[in-house]
Amino acid sequence: TSWVYGFGAGRNDGRAEMRNLLGGKGANLAEMASIGLPVPPGFTITTEVCTYFTGNKGAYPADLDGQVKAALARVEEAVGARFGDAANPLLVSVRSGARVSMPGMMDTVLNLGLNDETVKGLEAASGDARFAWDSYRRFIQMYGSVVLGVDHHRFEEIIEDAKLAKGVHEDTQLTAADWQQVAAGYKEMVREVTGADFPLDPWAQLWGAIGAVFGSWMNARAITYRRLHDIPADWGTAVNVQAMVFGNMGDDCATGVCFTRDPSTGENIFYGEYLINAQGEDVVAGIRTPQPMSEARAKPGERSMEAAMPAAYAELVAVRATLEKHYADMQDIEFTVQRNKLYMLQTRNGKRTAAASLKIAVDMANEGLIDHAEAVRRVNPGSLDQLLHPTLDPNAKRNMLTRGLPASPGAASGVVVFSADEAEARAQKGESVILVRVETSPEDIHGMHAARGILTTRGGMTSHAAVVARGMGRPCVAGAGGVVVDYAAQALSAGGVVVQAGETITLDGGTGEVFAGTVAMVEPKLSGDFETLMSWADEVRRLKVRANAETPLDAETARKFGAEGIGLCRTEHMFFDPQRISAVRQMIMSETEAGRRDALAKLLPFQRDDFVELFRIMAGLPVTIRLLDPPLHEFLPHKEEELAEVAESLGADLATMKRRAADLSEANPMLGHRGCRLAMTYPEIAEMQARAIFEAAVIVAKEAEAPVPEIMVPLVATKKELEISHAQIDKVAREVFTEAGMTIDYFVGTMIELPRAALTADKIAETADFFSFGTNDLTQTTFGLSRDDAGKFLPHYVEKGILPKDPFVSIDVDGVGALVEIAAQKGRATKPGLKLGICGEHGGDPASINFCEGIGLDYVSCSPYRVPVARLAAAQAAL
Ligand code: ADP
Ligand code: MG
Ligand code: MG
Repeated sequence: TSWVYGFGAGRNDGRAEMRNLLGGKGANLAEMASIGLPVPPGFTITTEVCTYFTGNKGAYPADLDGQVKAALARVEEAVGARFGDAANPLLVSVRSGARVSMPGMMDTVLNLGLNDETVKGLEAASGDARFAWDSYRRFIQMYGSVVLGVDHHRFEEIIEDAKLAKGVHEDTQLTAADWQQVAAGYKEMVREVTGADFPLDPWAQLWGAIGAVFGSWMNARAITYRRLHDIPADWGTAVNVQAMVFGNMGDDCATGVCFTRDPSTGENIFYGEYLINAQGEDVVAGIRTPQPMSEARAKPGERSMEAAMPAAYAELVAVRATLEKHYADMQDIEFTVQRNKLYMLQTRNGKRTAAASLKIAVDMANEGLIDHAEAVRRVNPGSLDQLLHPTLDPNAKRNMLTRGLPASPGAASGVVVFSADEAEARAQKGESVILVRVETSPEDIHGMHAARGILTTRGGMTSHAAVVARGMGRPCVAGAGGVVVDYAAQALSAGGVVVQAGETITLDGGTGEVFAGTVAMVEPKLSGDFETLMSWADEVRRLKVRANAETPLDAETARKFGAEGIGLCRTEHMFFDPQRISAVRQMIMSETEAGRRDALAKLLPFQRDDFVELFRIMAGLPVTIRLLDPPLHEFLPHKEEELAEVAESLGADLATMKRRAADLSEANPMLGHRGCRLAMTYPEIAEMQARAIFEAAVIVAKEAEAPVPEIMVPLVATKKELEISHAQIDKVAREVFTEAGMTIDYFVGTMIELPRAALTADKIAETADFFSFGTNDLTQTTFGLSRDDAGKFLPHYVEKGILPKDPFVSIDVDGVGALVEIAAQKGRATKPGLKLGICGEHGGDPASINFCEGIGLDYVSCSPYRVPVARLAAAQAAL
């Protein structure tokens, strides 16, 4: 078996497509080298070795050692230096790299191969003693903390002591001799802490680092990250060993991190940060302030790379174009300049905000880099949610505390918390929280996830907080230097104002502003790119997309987002209005049909007006109206004065009303007297609703395009129930049409939300014009799982992997999905043209939409804000 794949060194064993085996970093290093970009040579140890290592208690395949030696020999030859050589040492970095970039993994170790001998060789080769000893002490520090687990404070203390002894304040004021002393102090301290000498043999260093990378795959941070991101544990990580290049050899050296387009907005400009005379993660560590790439983006006092090192910059601009053309996607790249020579150290598809993702997809299609279908594929439907998020109301009163970097767009208000655990705990209680940290690290991921927004006082646009927040779609203000965080006092201060933990602040991640208290927000406005992408999605989409809506506002929002009708209008939502609820209660509490009809007569005009409005908004489009569904007692009066009011309207006494209310309560209401079962016992309710629908349809038909009412009977278990309901509805239709002197097309169908209905769908279809799958109830009844009680245990099911996902969020394909498929087939066997849709929460879930496409449903219906998500997901499902 090949466990090791080389790159650079005149030979590239890997390619970009091999990311499963080589990890993303390794695969792309090989790809960059093979298209002629300047990559320091190295090799990748495959993810299969990680799997072997994990499965064999940290042992390696027998032939790995030989392959590593051979690969390193090729690197030595390419560089012209030897690993461990006292005169001319080869130094390497050891870098982890899984299939997808994964915080939580072991950090990179740089300058590996240094020891008391080779440091002299580095000094000789570079002609710079200070550089050599600084590199050596950096190596001991990195290796010591990352591989040997020594607390990094212990190293910092030693530097502090050295500075104190010399009476200086800055690292830069320390000389070669000082660093030499620091290195000696480090080694002594490491021996003290670990009980063993710091490893000086380069091969021992190398295997120690490789083992630490593989071992870190199973550390707690990595496991948490994988759980949050659905990454399987068996993927493993690769290890990359690569010849060092030095960005810290002087002022003609630099290191940087950049994006080929702006990852916040998507704008087609070279975006990033670099530092002169710096190494590794200095740029993102926030110790020195990074400078901008392009002169156009440089603010007064800043020195752009374009101005400071024009030749290397020009080379990098050319690399940018090559990479975008080659990968046909925005790249996130890391580079180092050693003595004016550019080296590429990493490229990957760049993380971006939803807005940037959309703009880049549309721009790249317009630039001819990708086609329309690819642009549609590129945008994650779920991420569109972010574009639909509210922003701060420009006219709202606000009290600005400070301003930081606009690291991730969107606005959020919440109570201040200072730790990830606190964020998670308070969010679980339903509070909106803003996580405030000096800086974040992979340990904070769970708290960032739980928070509505993130504020940091340190770090730049590529800091951990910024990158992770953008990926999660959380608003983030980073590097707000005007904020002082006091963890001990659980307070922050900014602009002379102190905010205690638990007090509310508001962030605007689009501007970087931080405000005291809550600031009013407004609905988002969508860019032209959004419409363009949606139109491309609509070109390929087969599934229709409707909305679940009952209020005129929801219906208007739905149309604005491109809904092609209403797939679910829940009429009971129209009953709760204060003006109506007393009539509803009167109807329920009445013990006679005459009493109920009395009350229903009061409700009729309200319902009719509601439907008139809906039909007007949805002119010419189908509107599916579900007849009353929930158990009646949901509308019952609870308070004494409410009961008294109903008693009065019915001419009854309070005691009778209390008894009636008790009679109506059920042990198991979700499986009780609800849905079409109400129409079996109280047909007058359905009659009133049907009359309201038809009268409204007639009114709208007379003034404009006739609506297409689809009347939907809920909770049908048997064909007979639907037959009876259907006949009731037809009778009302005939009456209304006779009165109006006109007829209107309408359909009567049913929800399929009980297993029995699914299994007898062929019979039910004989009397149904359409089916709509009510997958919320169908999930509940298929699993025998109460939606309202599942919160107590379902999360554990998902956490422990008993269920892959919450079946109320994403359809359970094997069980619930099988019933849906059976019902669809049986229904269509009876009626080939039977219209089929889905109207549960799943109608807005991309994975569930993909399932609906697969079994040939006609439409999905979801909440208005999810309509664009569903349109895009439906297009992707069709591609
Ligand atoms: P991460 O996955 O955390 O970005 P990397 O493996 O990319 O870790 O390493 C982080 C940084 O270390 C790189 O951006 C680069 O600046 C530096 N680095 C890694 N390998 C080398 C190398 N061979 N020569 C010089 N710098 C390197
Ligand atoms: Mg790192
Ligand atoms: Mg990197």
